[in-house]
Amino acid sequence: MQEALVAAGHPGCQQGNGIFIKPCVQQEVDFYHRLLEKDSPLLDVVPVFMGTLVSGAKKAHDQLLLNEDLEQIDPDQFSQLASDGELSIVLRDELVGFVKPTIADIKLGFRLWDEMAPAAKKQRLDNVSKTTTSGSLGFRIAGMSVVLPDGSRKVFDKQFGREPTAENINDYLVQLFPQVENEYVWAVIDSIVQRIEHIIECLKLEPTKMYSCSLLIIYEGSLSDLQAKIEHQYQAEPEQDSDTDGDLEDEPAMVTVKLIDFAHSTLASEPDLQVIEGLNNVSKHLMPNTIEDIREF
Ligand code: ADP
Ligand code: MN
Repeated sequence: MQEALVAAGHPGCQQGNGIFIKPCVQQEVDFYHRLLEKDSPLLDVVPVFMGTLVSGAKKAHDQLLLNEDLEQIDPDQFSQLASDGELSIVLRDELVGFVKPTIADIKLGFRLWDEMAPAAKKQRLDNVSKTTTSGSLGFRIAGMSVVLPDGSRKVFDKQFGREPTAENINDYLVQLFPQVENEYVWAVIDSIVQRIEHIIECLKLEPTKMYSCSLLIIYEGSLSDLQAKIEHQYQAEPEQDSDTDGDLEDEPAMVTVKLIDFAHSTLASEPDLQVIEGLNNVSKHLMPNTIEDIREF
């Protein structure tokens, strides 16, 4: 296990052996449990939930639901970064398979607090919303870790995401694609937009209330690896008729888009229109504008 490569969020996340471990609150674990209990369509668009760990405990605290590999991992390894007794959630590591992942964390929704928040926090978050694209577009860049053409990594912190307005947000989002003039990157953007559409469909099927959840976008940031993976998949495609489900897991990782961060999420009676509108705006500002910008080159 090592300190995780993240785009935003609190420190203390770890990853390795295909799993991602994050200190969390009970509400986030409860939310995953609800989704599993009802075999929710949202399970398709969130990381695989594997269980929970309490640091300092000698054994995994919860049933490790889906990953046999996890049994091989000594829970003592997890305790190193976390303080004693701290609850952590164990998820599938979404970075698995990427050679040099570019990552973005986009916080969704206009209102960022749930009823449980103290008055001062509500006021502080309302002010953040009012002064950022959270208030105007229902999304805000929480952070990005972007692979540059020379292979180095550029980190955009939460301050960066507080600067743009609804008018110039495209100039900020495009920083996620330093090689935006490359046609393989267009394919990535197209795929991200399609996956966002799919998330919206799932959210319409499963009524939720999600305050301050995020859209996690990952793509292969190394252009040569991206190119190789896309070509590999293109060549593999004609055989797909005879494919079994298992083969899908061998697909090279090029793009992953997931909903994450459910510390303030619950099931509800109506679909979450705030989050859906935020997602619609993300995809609108990735496409077609980004592509139109390119075509003006
Ligand atoms: P926080 O409560 O600290 O905001 P998040 O759930 O938003 O935690 O996650 C913080 C960061 O961790 C994200 O920005 C993302 O980069 C990374 N992350 C979260 N879940 C996963 C996952 N399953 N696999 C890989 N990285 C993840
Ligand atoms: Mn977060």
